[in-house]
Amino acid sequence: MVVDEKQLEQLGAFEISQKMLALAQKNEKSNVFLNAGRGNPNWINTLARLAFARLMQFGIQESRRTINNGAMAGYVETNGIRERLEAFLDPENNREDQFLEDVLTYVKDELKLDQDAVVAEITNGIVGNNYPVPSRVLKNSEVILNEYLQSTLYGKTKLAKHTELFPTEGGTAAIVYAFHSLAENHLLKPGDKIAINTPIFTPYLQIPELNDYELVEVDLRSREKDNWEIKPSEIEKLSDPSIKALFVVNPTNPTSKAFNHKALLAIEHAVKQNPELMIITDDVYGTFVSDFKTIYSVAPHNTMLVYSFSKLYGATGWRLGLIALNKDNVFDKKISELGSKNKAELHERYEHVVIDPDKMKFIDRMVADSRSVGLYHTSGLSTPQQMMEVLFALTHLVYANGSTDAYIDKSRALVGERYEKLHKSMGAKEDESRTSAKYYSLIDIYRIAERKYGKAFREYLENNFEQVDFLLKLAKKNGVVLMDGVGFGSKPGELRVSEANLPTDDYALIGKQVLELLREYHHDFESQNK
Ligand SMILES: *Cc1c(COP(=O)(O)O)cnc(C)c1O
Repeated sequence: MVVDEKQLEQLGAFEISQKMLALAQKNEKSNVFLNAGRGNPNWINTLARLAFARLMQFGIQESRRTINNGAMAGYVETNGIRERLEAFLDPENNREDQFLEDVLTYVKDELKLDQDAVVAEITNGIVGNNYPVPSRVLKNSEVILNEYLQSTLYGKTKLAKHTELFPTEGGTAAIVYAFHSLAENHLLKPGDKIAINTPIFTPYLQIPELNDYELVEVDLRSREKDNWEIKPSEIEKLSDPSIKALFVVNPTNPTSKAFNHKALLAIEHAVKQNPELMIITDDVYGTFVSDFKTIYSVAPHNTMLVYSFSKLYGATGWRLGLIALNKDNVFDKKISELGSKNKAELHERYEHVVIDPDKMKFIDRMVADSRSVGLYHTSGLSTPQQMMEVLFALTHLVYANGSTDAYIDKSRALVGERYEKLHKSMGAKEDESRTSAKYYSLIDIYRIAERKYGKAFREYLENNFEQVDFLLKLAKKNGVVLMDGVGFGSKPGELRVSEANLPTDDYALIGKQVLELLREYHHDFESQNK
């Protein structure tokens, strides 16, 4: 296959990676095909899934109490449902049943929730026999999910009781809904300045709505020479009130670095100077950093938080994400301060679905907008999906001891081990700072080239090849697929390796193949310079 490298560079990083797959599968060296391009984890959480299955069985048994006619059963009667669940569970023989018993104790003792109401909500939710009511999020589920975010992301700032949630079809839908409602509600207007931290998850750079805004790479750019740490001096630029919004991925994708303490202080300071700043923080990788603290905890009134269960619990197929927003937030404040023309237009937009549209909160507008307003009454994430989120959250809440959760520790250890194997095999420096999530690595081919073979060779690589050449040859010759960092707004020569999706031992092989290919380039370089 002849590949036009120039044309290839027009595509996004995910699309380039897709093209590489075919080449790598029939690579010239007949190596094992290694795809470290995607961020999809190759592990899953079993406990929450098994508990889900048990509750489905219980839910069916419950439904048969009201109608029992072959494949047809009835509705779930909530009276006495908790006692019947306790009788159903067999904790001696089923680990997941023990977990569900522990859940019952936890929701009563720690969250002070009504056990019967929780069991009814979860059972009905899993059977999926009713529209999500309330449509934004089920009642007890919101409390449990908030407690989860408190424990994993909010740090010591107590925010659970002040936060409202909107579970969505993955972090992906959360992002789509947020951008859409910001535009519909005139919170972002064409030409507005928006800051982003680059390198960043490519889809953020490709949302067409973003073309309407002036993307100031206010350049919260982190650099490899700073260990990808974002400098407080970069964040200070946000103090400029002409900057309307900041979109961040924290810890970032692709560099896997979290904002450190100083960077968080700088955000807090910038928001004081620019109090109308709207921040959207995508904290999908938060749990991969120990003692993680979200931007939402230092700027709670300015920040919308996006979370996803996809990565930690290996649940990308389930589509489980959520949006968190403080009850007191700048998005609502800005809506209340819109001009009369915009207000009248929005009044008309929402008046058919709520009684007092002017007072409708931004988070509820996102729910309505997600179903084109008109279908607001059938909006909301499916109840089985909400319950899967709740069960994942509960595996953490019930068994975490302070900040240690054995499952989360295992997920960190797994990506950490892969990260180490990759770096050791290339003789590359490892980032041992606490802010490193190690879910991805951005490796700089030019730097490795210079370190191994000197500056002249580096310049030869930089000046004589298209930026995707190395990536392409790595696939075609060696069978290794990585992702091009340039698509993420990173420098040429930087390639993203995902530590999520291959068996651990393969990471040493990837390093070996990278070095082998560099050796071949170097061989050509030498023969040309004879
Ligand atoms: C994987 C990823 C997502 C997507 O999450 P889903 O819940 O699977 O939709 C969102 N943001 C970032 C930064 C990601 O890496």
